Amino acid sequence: MIQKLTILILIIGAGFTSFAQDTYLDAKVEETEKTYLGGETYKVKTFTQKFKSEKPKNIIFLIGDGMGVSHIFSGITANKGSLFLENCKYIGFSKTQSADNYITDSAAGATALSTGVRTNNGAIGVDVNNKPVKSILEEAEENGLATGLVSTSTITHATPASFIAHQPQRNMYEEIAADFLKTDIDVFIGGGKAHFTQRKDGRNLVEELKEKGYRYEEDLDKISKVKKGKLVALTADGDAGRMEQRGDMLPVSTKTAINILSKNDKGFFLMVEGSQIDWGGHAGSTIYIVEEMLDFDQTIGKALAFAAKDGKTLVVVTADHETGGMAITGGSIEEGIVQARYPTGGHTSVMVPIFAYGPGAKEFIGIMKNTDIHAKMRKLLFGN
Ligand code: MG
Ligand code: ZN
Repeated sequence: MIQKLTILILIIGAGFTSFAQDTYLDAKVEETEKTYLGGETYKVKTFTQKFKSEKPKNIIFLIGDGMGVSHIFSGITANKGSLFLENCKYIGFSKTQSADNYITDSAAGATALSTGVRTNNGAIGVDVNNKPVKSILEEAEENGLATGLVSTSTITHATPASFIAHQPQRNMYEEIAADFLKTDIDVFIGGGKAHFTQRKDGRNLVEELKEKGYRYEEDLDKISKVKKGKLVALTADGDAGRMEQRGDMLPVSTKTAINILSKNDKGFFLMVEGSQIDWGGHAGSTIYIVEEMLDFDQTIGKALAFAAKDGKTLVVVTADHETGGMAITGGSIEEGIVQARYPTGGHTSVMVPIFAYGPGAKEFIGIMKNTDIHAKMRKLLFGN
């Protein structure tokens, strides 16, 4: 009887968890996935803390989806003691709650960061009344800055979508893809080709983008060689895959985007997302989280290298929320081993860290609302 009851509880529990997760996520992982046994490490550079201006000309905004302090520390441990992120000396915390929920999803979380407005879970770039709200990327465009988005999910997924689209529901992927054509964004790189080319309305948005003057690429090697102009790169039909599949797609794409956008005399705004840290958290997989965390940190390294050389670029790194309630329960910095436990397969309500580097970085010290991050970036970039 007790056994049957336990099984019943497990089934109900599993159903509840999968409801809370996004539909593309697999069920819980094997016990072995909860421990990262060490692997390749990389050398972390130390960058200058001297900059050429008081206010930034450019902003590179990096969002680690689902990245809490434990996820970061799993990266520090796996890389045997340090990350590029540690060059960011100005640190704060963000309160992530959405308009209708103590625990935000990535749509409301990103909309707060992109527009400065707290909205309901699931909403993309609209307020609680489904009214479109202008994003910092759209405002940057209006002010003559070059703009870009890079992610390892589909480019139509909640986080990047909230910077450019305005739709009441995050799963309206084809409508979100069509919103990209209403803007003059200069570069976007991610997965999600199917939402542009295999559509219910029969439109081929890749062809339409080419007619608008964009260069279109799918191959990472070719993407890495683009130095100017307008670029759309969709590297997969769906999301960009895990590390073994996508390789160094994120750091390479970020470097490409920076190369292109920095040609603009008036400056640029670029958002880069480490999308799959969240998916590792949902899965309760320490291995997945560590892989994604190290990839994201090396991408941060690309942003910092440019900012250090440029001297007029602000780099801001944060998360939309924490995922998994990740608790590091054992490990070794010498051996790069991380062992963790996960009380939930969903998001949590806890504050997430903010890290800043470059002109204006000191504004990000303290405890603030997620919407304040938008307000501060906006003020630094546009002066009002
Ligand atoms: Mg995301
Ligand atoms: Zn999530």
